[in-house]
Amino acid sequence: MNIFYVPPAQINNGFAELLDQEAIHASKVMRAREGDKLTIVDGVGGRYEGIVRRITKKSVQVEIKDEQHSLPPKPQLVLGMGIIKKRDRLEFAVEKAIELGAAQIGLFRSEHTIKENVRMDRLESIAVSAMKQSLQSHLCNVEIYHSLDIMLDVVTVDNILVAHEKVDETNGDIDYKSVHNSDRTLLLVGPEGGFSEDEIEEFVNRGADLVSLGPNRLRAETAVVAFLSQFL
Ligand code: SAH
Repeated sequence: MNIFYVPPAQINNGFAELLDQEAIHASKVMRAREGDKLTIVDGVGGRYEGIVRRITKKSVQVEIKDEQHSLPPKPQLVLGMGIIKKRDRLEFAVEKAIELGAAQIGLFRSEHTIKENVRMDRLESIAVSAMKQSLQSHLCNVEIYHSLDIMLDVVTVDNILVAHEKVDETNGDIDYKSVHNSDRTLLLVGPEGGFSEDEIEEFVNRGADLVSLGPNRLRAETAVVAFLSQFL
């Protein structure tokens, strides 16, 4: 199924207008023609079925025939992830987290951050592709925070779980009930150097639970996948 992303501002009076990459993708890559049917998501829960009415060099206009709107799934999972050095690994983690249902992603700089190599433009387009790929209609918001404290202050959640490799498996079980009873849970994964002792203390002071993802020491991007998979 071909799904296209059109932000709400480009959907008016029963017509949706595909622009930029989405227009090129529809007309050049998928070779859409006037009269073809296609599906659109707006990133805020709207899903539309429509018919291509007009194709120009810069846009594809679609007449909407049917629409459905959904609320974001609850509980919302917010991923907080330490910035990892290798950009391809960071991008992999963001893509997989979105496929697995992260509603929001905060990338943060922490004590053991080695190097920052983040391209927001690429992450934004990964977020759109991953939403479409996984047949979701809510766009995951990806943001960068200059420190862990800023992220913890800004992101509103009612529950925090921290993946920590130094937690004993026997007392690092995930409390699923607290996640399912929450509106928004923050899942924290450290950068390749892990979290510092001070950071762990700060999490505990903020009421976070430290959880284990098993006996193996995972790379940060693997930990992201393993962590989110627990809540599928
Ligand atoms: N501090 C370690 C490795 C950090 S791994 C070192 O340098 O040797 C990067 C992140 O992945 C960690 O901060 C943690 O959030 C997560 N992680 C990796 N393996 C984990 C495990 N077995 N259980 C819980 N979290 C894990």
